Amino acid sequence: GPWLEVRGIAKHYGGVKALRSASMDLLAGEVHGIIGPNGAGKSTLVKLLGGVESADTGSILVDGSEVEMSSPSVAQQHRIILMPQELSLVPESSIVDNIVLGSEPTVFGALSAKQARRRSASALDAIGLDLPLSAQVSDLSTVHKRLLMLARALDRAPRLLILDEPTAGLAAHEASLVMDTVSRVVAKGVTVIYISHHLTEVAKLCNRVSTVREGRMVDTICGDDITKAA
Ligand code: ADP
Ligand code: ADP
Repeated sequence: GPWLEVRGIAKHYGGVKALRSASMDLLAGEVHGIIGPNGAGKSTLVKLLGGVESADTGSILVDGSEVEMSSPSVAQQHRIILMPQELSLVPESSIVDNIVLGSEPTVFGALSAKQARRRSASALDAIGLDLPLSAQVSDLSTVHKRLLMLARALDRAPRLLILDEPTAGLAAHEASLVMDTVSRVVAKGVTVIYISHHLTEVAKLCNRVSTVREGRMVDTICGDDITKAA
């Protein structure tokens, strides 16, 4: 059965009902696509899962137990890692500093500089990103910044990796590189939520696809139907 369940989540921002009642579940190891028009509530839904926002009502269950996803740190303790849509790196810091920055100490313990370098090297290696660890992030291309965010997310040893429009703003060949990298991650058995406007990407990567419309989950499609929808 599902290891993560979202039940009847609602969230408003002032007068805007971003989510009215969204429900979904996740199976271990699946790649779950989320599609829907701009403003439908997709990012809000995953921000709630990642502990970046808190819900007004509804619940999130992990392994059958309700979890108050009150902060990114709580989400990280459950190994739920959100890679946000916006590039969120510290531009004037190095690759190493960006990878280990904000990692949950209870998961990894305090790190020496040497351990930080070793961990960063293996995070880059895991996604086949060959960059000098001491490079400053502001010197990287957009696609390398995006891949670095992915390496940082993987360094958190996610059980659930949430990717919110990871190819937004990239050229087609760069988007393909990101997608190939996501495929490598998927092959390791990580559960993935993949938000995208690109149905071709979703059809290529995902086992199931949910549609969000006006703050509600309106449809879930699987298998061959995804390709038909694309
Ligand atoms: P999607 O990811 O599907 O494009 P969002 O979850 O980003 O949709 O947004 C859902 C609705 O909530 C939109 O109307 C959006 O403008 C609004 N919204 C999202 N974040 C905020 C915020 N921080 N403050 C005010 N309104 C917001
Ligand atoms: P559709 O609109 O039918 O879903 P897409 O626009 O998603 O088709 O995809 C067309 C091709 O462009 C895909 O092979 C995809 O890899 C690539 N692509 C994906 N994201 C982007 C992007 N942000 N900019 C340009 N091309 C992209």
